[in-house]
Amino acid sequence: MSDDSFDVVVIGAGPGGYVCAIRAAQLGMRVACVESRKTLGGTCLNVGCIPSKALLHSSEAFAHAAHGLETLGVKTGKVTLDLKRMLAHKDGIVEQTTKGVDYLFKKNKIERVLGKGRLAGLDTVHVDLEGGGTRILKAKRIVLATGSVPAGLPNVPIDEERIVTSTGALALAEVPETLIVIGGGYIGLEMGSVWARLGSKVTVVEFLDRIVPGMDGEVAKAFQRVLQKQGFEFRLGTKVTGAKAGKDGVSLTVEAAAGGKAETLKAAVVLVAVGRKPYTDGLGLAEAGVKLDKQGRIEVNEHYQTAVPSILAIGDCIKGPMLAHKASDEGVAVAELIAGQAGHVNYDVIPGVVYTWPEVASVGKTEEELKAAGIAYKVGKFPFSAHARARASGNTEGFVKVLADAATDRVLGAHMIGPDVGTMIVEAATVMEFGGSAEDIARICHPHPTLTEVVREAALAVGGGAIHI
Ligand code: FAD
Ligand code: NAD
Repeated sequence: MSDDSFDVVVIGAGPGGYVCAIRAAQLGMRVACVESRKTLGGTCLNVGCIPSKALLHSSEAFAHAAHGLETLGVKTGKVTLDLKRMLAHKDGIVEQTTKGVDYLFKKNKIERVLGKGRLAGLDTVHVDLEGGGTRILKAKRIVLATGSVPAGLPNVPIDEERIVTSTGALALAEVPETLIVIGGGYIGLEMGSVWARLGSKVTVVEFLDRIVPGMDGEVAKAFQRVLQKQGFEFRLGTKVTGAKAGKDGVSLTVEAAAGGKAETLKAAVVLVAVGRKPYTDGLGLAEAGVKLDKQGRIEVNEHYQTAVPSILAIGDCIKGPMLAHKASDEGVAVAELIAGQAGHVNYDVIPGVVYTWPEVASVGKTEEELKAAGIAYKVGKFPFSAHARARASGNTEGFVKVLADAATDRVLGAHMIGPDVGTMIVEAATVMEFGGSAEDIARICHPHPTLTEVVREAALAVGGGAIHI
């Protein structure tokens, strides 16, 4: 093979692309990965999952030290915020983690090409190199993993200072006195939590009549109540019609989603968090014969092949939830399929977690989905307030709900709000992967006293037999 010939060229080094590149290299292929950002890791490592979780952790520690320790008998004196240091900690974690991907690329002998890639035929990628000049790469297979970017709203111009996307919200130089978040989904509630804990008065403007659409309705209601207790205000069923940023802040015009009288809201900063859209600009898709669906996502078959079989696509730029673990699993599956193995992703068991406090986690079908599909199901529920360890740590908010098939007892879904449920959801996911039942969860010996016992109690409750309630 010449220096510019590869088995696989991946465009995009996010959790989809970089994981695909590593797996393909592990399977013996010669791999190049084209990335236009100076650092690897995509949205997730640079401006998504990792920096947001760093800030969520730091702000939670701040809020806990300021308000949560006294009842445990710990006096701290006045707790003060060093925002500069908090942001620097986040930046340090990002740097460390993105460099970790560089290390993995070197270890796996993946050639990293810094520049913007585009298709130039069935087996050719043209790269406009970062430092100037071009490079032409030949590949037996091309994997598109170009991810997504924030969606905008008409008449709400983003300046990343007063009117920000998640990227601006990860780097505000001072705590805004007031923050309006447009969109009550993952980003709005996570980033809203960060700034609320640090002192902002947060108002969420949501188009629908509920938050976290797609998650279980009962969990969403409980989540909203908890956030309200933390000081969040919600304007549900409300649409934003325009925004104007000035020196002192932003004026936002809103009205009822169904239409009605216009109203003006004011805030120091506005975060637009109304979803993300696939990013395929300048990729040369149409010229290459690659097709998009109606939502602008790259269309693929069950083997991730686009309309051009040698060109495949994964992650946020194709259909499915825009989640890092989904993108990575597709990356592994594609590499294995290219190698002639049986790569596969089970889309029925992809957990979703909102990393607020308490956390919210979900896997499988919601009650709403089961009702709509006419599937008879049983429900088992158990609250954290009935668990001694949860009480000992002062984390009694929330519950676990297990949904099982009425006839077979097979677990169809699990929905949780409470301490650390983002970790605990994996038990339900594991049992679902193995086609297990609620009784299977209930018969697994769970260590005492751990919060995982709440999952077991909820599973026991499916059969009418929770012990501690
Ligand atoms: P991306 O991560 O978007 O990577 C695509 C890469 O391709 C980018 O680096 C881009 O520069 C590059 N690229 C695009 N076009 C070209 C081109 N033509 N040439 C060269 N390079 C190109 N998900 C979770 O699962 N958990 C979380 O906690 C979580 N938190 C998030 C928090 C925030 C604030 C945001 C914004 C997102 C979060 N997500 C989270 C979503 C997650 O980041 C995405 O689902 C994930 O990054 C998608 O991976 P990807 O590889 O498909 O694309
Ligand atoms: P989202 O889809 O989670 O939420 C967007 C919200 O905005 C929805 O509630 C929607 O009804 C609302 N909305 C849409 N248009 C509106 C309008 N005009 N006015 C008011 N509300 C409107 O999207 P997001 O929060 O922007 O996040 C994007 C994606 O990034 C998520 O879907 C998720 O896949 C991913 N993400 C995941 C995590 C995580 O896994 N913890 C964290 C952040 C982001």
